[in-house]
Amino acid sequence: MKIGVFICYCGNNISATVDVEQVAKFALTLPDVVHSETIHHVCSEPGQNTIKQAIKNKGLDRIVIGACSPRIHEATFQRMVSAARLNKYMLEIANLREHCSWIHEDRSLATIKAIDLVNMAVCKVSRHKVLYPSQVEINPRTLVIGGGIAGIQAALDVAESGNEVVLVEREPSIGGNMARLDKVFPTLDCSGCILAPKMVDVANNKHISLHTYSEIEKVTGFVGNFKVTIRKKARLIDTAKCTGCGACTLKCPIKAPSEFNLGLDSRGAIYIPFPQAVPHIPVIDKTICPMVLKGKCGLCQKMCPTQAIDYKQEDTLIEESFGAIIVATGYELVDWKKLYGEYGHGRYPNVISSMQYERLLSASGPTGGHVILPSDFKKPHAEQREPKIIAFVACVGSRDEKVGRPYCSGVCCMYTAKYAMLTKEHIPAAEVYIFYMDLRAAGKSYEEFVRRAQEKYGARYIRGRVSKIYERNGRMVIMSADTLLGKQVQLEADLVVLAAGVASSSGANQLAQKLNISHDQYGFFIESHPKLRPVEASTAGIFICGACQGPKDIPLSVAQASSAAAKVLGLISHEKLETSPLVAEVNINRCIGCFRCLEVCPFTAIEKQEMRGGAWVARVNPALCQGCGLCNATCLPGAISLNGFTDDQILSEVEAICLVNPEL
Ligand code: SF4
Ligand code: SF4
Ligand code: SF4
Repeated sequence: MKIGVFICYCGNNISATVDVEQVAKFALTLPDVVHSETIHHVCSEPGQNTIKQAIKNKGLDRIVIGACSPRIHEATFQRMVSAARLNKYMLEIANLREHCSWIHEDRSLATIKAIDLVNMAVCKVSRHKVLYPSQVEINPRTLVIGGGIAGIQAALDVAESGNEVVLVEREPSIGGNMARLDKVFPTLDCSGCILAPKMVDVANNKHISLHTYSEIEKVTGFVGNFKVTIRKKARLIDTAKCTGCGACTLKCPIKAPSEFNLGLDSRGAIYIPFPQAVPHIPVIDKTICPMVLKGKCGLCQKMCPTQAIDYKQEDTLIEESFGAIIVATGYELVDWKKLYGEYGHGRYPNVISSMQYERLLSASGPTGGHVILPSDFKKPHAEQREPKIIAFVACVGSRDEKVGRPYCSGVCCMYTAKYAMLTKEHIPAAEVYIFYMDLRAAGKSYEEFVRRAQEKYGARYIRGRVSKIYERNGRMVIMSADTLLGKQVQLEADLVVLAAGVASSSGANQLAQKLNISHDQYGFFIESHPKLRPVEASTAGIFICGACQGPKDIPLSVAQASSAAAKVLGLISHEKLETSPLVAEVNINRCIGCFRCLEVCPFTAIEKQEMRGGAWVARVNPALCQGCGLCNATCLPGAISLNGFTDDQILSEVEAICLVNPEL
């Protein structure tokens, strides 16, 4: 056995805290280590060439690299080892950066820890075995979850390659939040003019199957071979017969707040979500339709010329197979009514959210694009008033530890500047005030956009967090600090628009569980690595894009969607996929058939297998196993071992530290 040890300076990331020369010197004292040296950047080409040369010149058969986390460069180092004609699993990485230099300050103690880590890695690698990956076929179909702008873009990009895509959207129409927007920054082009053609493209694309009003029920399988159960919720409409004429919606006697217009107007129990909806097919709200609840009414059925209404329709479950999954479930606005009692909890009609203001501005909105006070909606047309003074409050539910939302929503500064411009275009005499914390305009042409709102449109910016909003004589009073002037200010406005922050979609946590991907404490899905794998989820074959990964604007969402699509195409362009041999194996002579392993395996990789003689034992499907080790730790008789992490290897590491530090 000939082990080579290579300790990386990582610039000064490691060497500033760890005496790398001392660690390399120590490694030479370990059994079977025949070569040890330091390298300034192991991951660089010269660094990799140095290792390849050493493997060749010294006949090394096992390699230890003391560098950064294996999550970052393990694949790169494995390729390098393979290129030097060594089995790529004869490599062990000691994480001297994230596990040592970055988290310690005392150089001598950090060096001792680095020595321990290298010692452990050497002991472990000496027990490595040659392993070979196997291959599985890749299903070229892609599932896209979420039909907002990111999901639409991703679906269209993948479909462009001629591969099949299934797009699942839980709402009755695709379009997401962007469908509600009036104009979009920084170009102020009409949101619908950009989005609607893409929605139609999705509907007309022969490679895309669209399941709206549908949810993901269950996901099993693994990269290249996912099995997904989709629940198609009953619309109570036979979509094959419906022509989308809308006659059924005309006589419905029931009224409920419109989701699309965020409660600014109402819809019937049967409704088409919005005029540009795709598919342009109604849905019956089963929770309020008296025909469904009590068998009374049936007016819509009478109106329908094609007998498309089916009150007895039930949810259907469909099972589909995919090679890759793109998650693009978007965002919701934070529920400011719950969080901000000081802003009235939603009891003042003239304090509205930013998305409601979008609908007021929009020509397809409840007022046909006329900005009138919501308190006047029910008054006769002649008595409806335009607001003269409008206050926009930024960071409502963003950058606010007090309400548990410390992060920046990334879009509010920009869309409040947009509102200033659009408001002045709608009501030139209006006075516009924007209460803000800091102005963040980091995108291309964004700073100029905000300046235009200030200089050309006369928006008055007041820096300070609003402490209270209340009603006085029919007008809204905003109390705030002005931190630039260093005094308290009070403003009387006709209309207050709260720039509500961005939250993850409801149900994101449950979806993450079904997909077995990670999410943060706010429900945003976590990428595998923010710089190196920004659109890959923690589970192979699953990609994330758009605001489900974190707050972001439309240009970024679209860019990320195309990036996820490119990753998917890279994956499905192969017919077969190499699977890691670092999987669990069952010793059938030890297995007692208790199947505790089967219960804990999160990847359903363990099956029951009947032996000759009728005894049942566990069997691991290596294609499904992700090498998490849960079964290994659960198996009482020790019948399961994990390749690359056998008991022998783990215990040798423990022994290594105990020998160097006998007090342990
Ligand atoms: Fe409306 Fe239900 Fe009557 Fe149809 S049956 S018109 S959905 S209340
Ligand atoms: Fe569809 Fe019938 Fe309603 Fe027309 S009336 S939109 S065909 S369900
Ligand atoms: Fe399942 Fe065990 Fe493989 Fe983990 S290591 S995925 S528990 S079989």
